[in-house]
Amino acid sequence: MHGFYVELRTPEGGFLPGVGGEDDGLKGGLNGIDNGRLHFTGVRVPRTNLLNRYGDVAPNGDYSSPIASPGRRFFTMLGTLVQGRVSLDGAAVAASKLALTAAITYSTQRRQFNASSDLSEEVLMDYQRHQRRLLPRLAATYAASFAHEELLEKLDGVFSGSHDTDEDRQDLETLAAAYKPLSTWLALDTLQECREATGGAGFLAENRFTSLRADLDVYATFEGDNNVLLQLVAKRLLGDYAKEFKDMDFGVLARYAATQAGRTLHRSGLRRVAQTVADSGSEKKSAIALRDEHTQHELLSDRVSSMVAELAGELRGAKSMSKEKAAALFNEHQNDLIEAARAHAELLQWEAFTRGLKDLKDPGTRQVMTWVRDLFGLCLIEKNLAWYLMNGRLSTQRARTLNAYINRLLAKIRPHSLDLVEAFGYGPEHIRAAIATGAEQERQDEAAAYARRMRASGTSVIDEKTLLARQAEIRKPGTASGRKSA
Ligand SMILES: Cc1cc2nc3c(=O)[nH]c(=O)nc-3n(C[C@H](O)[C@H](O)[C@H](O)COP(=O)(O)OP(=O)(O)OC[C@H]3O[C@@H](n4cnc5c(N)ncnc54)[C@H](O)[C@@H]3O)c2cc1C
Repeated sequence: MHGFYVELRTPEGGFLPGVGGEDDGLKGGLNGIDNGRLHFTGVRVPRTNLLNRYGDVAPNGDYSSPIASPGRRFFTMLGTLVQGRVSLDGAAVAASKLALTAAITYSTQRRQFNASSDLSEEVLMDYQRHQRRLLPRLAATYAASFAHEELLEKLDGVFSGSHDTDEDRQDLETLAAAYKPLSTWLALDTLQECREATGGAGFLAENRFTSLRADLDVYATFEGDNNVLLQLVAKRLLGDYAKEFKDMDFGVLARYAATQAGRTLHRSGLRRVAQTVADSGSEKKSAIALRDEHTQHELLSDRVSSMVAELAGELRGAKSMSKEKAAALFNEHQNDLIEAARAHAELLQWEAFTRGLKDLKDPGTRQVMTWVRDLFGLCLIEKNLAWYLMNGRLSTQRARTLNAYINRLLAKIRPHSLDLVEAFGYGPEHIRAAIATGAEQERQDEAAAYARRMRASGTSVIDEKTLLARQAEIRKPGTASGRKSA
């Protein structure tokens, strides 16, 4: 596979001879990018138009390449395309940050319903449900952001040549294939939730949730469909597993995984868990254990390594089977494979977040960010609670404490939610959403000032329910007000 340069159009914009093409027409989003099909009939490309870093054609027609192995050459060429996936990962993280900045800013200003006072309504962000909808997504966005920073460093290492071994390239490919699905799915989910969390205002085009969502939609598909990419990650995990344990019997390994004995699968970041998370008896202690960084790591990494070990055991006979039977066996486990890859990618994000915490110097910032990391980790465990319970990794007692502990974390993070989105560093010129400009705060202040003036003047409207209650009180025989009115 080789890239080459070819002229397509005349200066007037028409196609050159032998070149043809059709436009794809209106798409579901991202219409700022022109997509279509090209075809070439008898178009001659000069050999000097070959993008010849990895392969060249001499004037006499001889082909040469600095990469001897055709297989490696193919993957090196493919590898140059990884920049697209890395960029998509970054763009998706940025979209989640923008959406959360707009939605959380609005939610700290918008008031709706009197829950605790007759005089002022509650700020949306103070509702627990609202916190549940926005803060776990904020935590996941931070995790994806830390992971993306590390991905950029890996990309820089490979493309600057400072860390450019075959293994570095393969790691970069696998990491990009793992992170891009997670961050693009997260962005779509976050944009939708932020749209709903800002109510009817969120549906207005001027607030950009709907147009960003439409533009981001295809991110789950292009530069590699998300499910197909995760399958690539799963194959790499299985390959690493097979290399790591090449002299051991897969059946034994599967039993190892089931009994939680084990060791480290270092290259893919896989970890085995050596100990069962023991229960202490008290619910409080159970919750404290879940808060512990090592416990979270053990639970997340144990799930990945157990899933991979189990799959390796199930697929161990595939190599000696006919192509048809091997494909059928693989297909029987395809969903579990992709789930294992997803769990692996989530673990890598959690690890990147945890490494990021170590660089935070300010103790207050580190504390808040540790809560955010805990929220990310515990929400992952909560999402897969069925697996932890079915596989005996968490007791029902500990599992029961999870929901309450997550709620407590939400309440702790809530006062910092605005700081957490402001820390993304976006200004109004980036967010470009009318609801995040402070207009809602102005509207609320104006309404509150008006209500205060009305109350002070004695002309404020009396609530119908209050009026009816007063009238009922007056009509009641035997009551003080009833006697007075009589
Ligand atoms: C707007 C846009 C711009 C693009 N730009 C470019 C570009 O610049 N250059 C370029 O080369 N390409 C480009 N593409 C193509 C893009 O990379 C492909 O659309 C993408 O890789 C998915 O391939 P597909 O459309 O053939 O989907 P399919 O492969 O047909 O997939 C359809 C569905 O089937 C599932 N599926 C497929 N195979 C399997 C499997 N083995 N197991 C389980 N499920 C499977 C997928 O998960 C997906 O949900 C672009 C696409 C779009 C929409």
